[in-house]
This record gives sequence, structure tokens and C-alpha cells, in this order.
Amino acid sequence: MKVKKKIKTIKVVADKCNGCRACEMICSAFHASPKYSSNNPERSRIRVIRDPLSDIYLPVYAGEYTPAECMGRDKYVLDGKEYGECAFCRASCPSRSLFKEPDSGLPLKCDMCEDDPSQETPLCVQWCVNEALVYEEREEEIDDGSEALGDMETGVASLVDKYGLEKILDTVARMSASRKD
Ligand code: SF4
Ligand code: SF4
Repeated sequence: MKVKKKIKTIKVVADKCNGCRACEMICSAFHASPKYSSNNPERSRIRVIRDPLSDIYLPVYAGEYTPAECMGRDKYVLDGKEYGECAFCRASCPSRSLFKEPDSGLPLKCDMCEDDPSQETPLCVQWCVNEALVYEEREEEIDDGSEALGDMETGVASLVDKYGLEKILDTVARMSASRKD
């Protein structure tokens, strides 16, 4: 069955980014626990690839978690600027430290600042005074049940990949029993 869904996108106008990293600061503060209690760019779901000597400032959003790194590497040259390997890749992947929660190692993914009540526009967009990040919304028909994994499912999937389903289930059963005691 088809259902209507609001699709939220953020257009990255990389030419306007000056590498100030305000987007990283607000994203990590918003996702701190408790909210706004700290800021650490390592926890941000947007990271800015910076190479000032080559005039490269590229904001990249954390996308899907992947348990396996790809077999090849991409390198792009655009307008004479050479971008590092995987610069445009959004995956939380075993081959690099980007988009992993620094304490737990669990994958990070942009959730468009999910909140209750929801933000009018994502915080990184609000904080980007250079308008390098532009928020857009549209409606699309999608298959019912084809929603992307949320934070919780993504984290559990990565733990299952690392330790195996049986060990995770054992641990949850043990934790739940000890909490009832
Ligand atoms: S806040 Fe805007 S200008 Fe600053 S680093 Fe982020 S995307 Fe670039
Ligand atoms: S939209 Fe929200 S969650 Fe996503 S990168 Fe921007 S501040 Fe972080």
C-alpha cells in the first residue's frame, strides 16, 4: 500500500561553506545527554571536511550504517580541487572513525533533529549563517513499511554485527532480570 510521506532534505551548497563548524557544534549539543549539556564535534551527525590550504570545506551528513567497508576508494577532483578518499561518503563504516559515537563506537546518523515538538527547520540549517545548508520539504508516495531505520535499530544492528544475535539476546535477558531484582 502506498502512503504519503513528507520528505525532508538539506541541500548542501558547498561553495558557500567557510568551514566555521557552527553546524557541528549545534548538532553535537542538541544530541548531548542531557540536551545542550556539552558539545563535542565527534558526536555531530554533520562533519565538515576541511583542507584550508586547498580551499576545501565540505559539509557531509551522517547517513546509513554499513558493517563492511567497500572494496575500492573514490577520489574526486572538482574545479581543480582534489578531495580526499571517501570525502563525499556519508556511511558510518568500519574503515574510518567518522560518524561513530566516540564513547560507545555506535554509528551516528542524521535524524533531522527529531524532537517533540519538532524543530521548524533543522538546527544546523538555522546555525549556518552563510546559507550553505538549505532546508527543503516535499511530499512523496512511498510503500507502507519502507521507513528507514531509526537510531535505536541502527545501533542494535551494529551490535548484532559485532557480537552476534545470541550474545545480544543473552545480555538483554540478563539485564532485564537484574533490573527486576
Ligand atoms: S555552519 Fe555552514 S558555513 Fe559553517 S561549517 Fe557548517 S555548513 Fe559550513
Ligand atoms: S539536521 Fe539535525 S541531526 Fe542532522 S546534522 Fe543537522 S543538526 Fe544534526
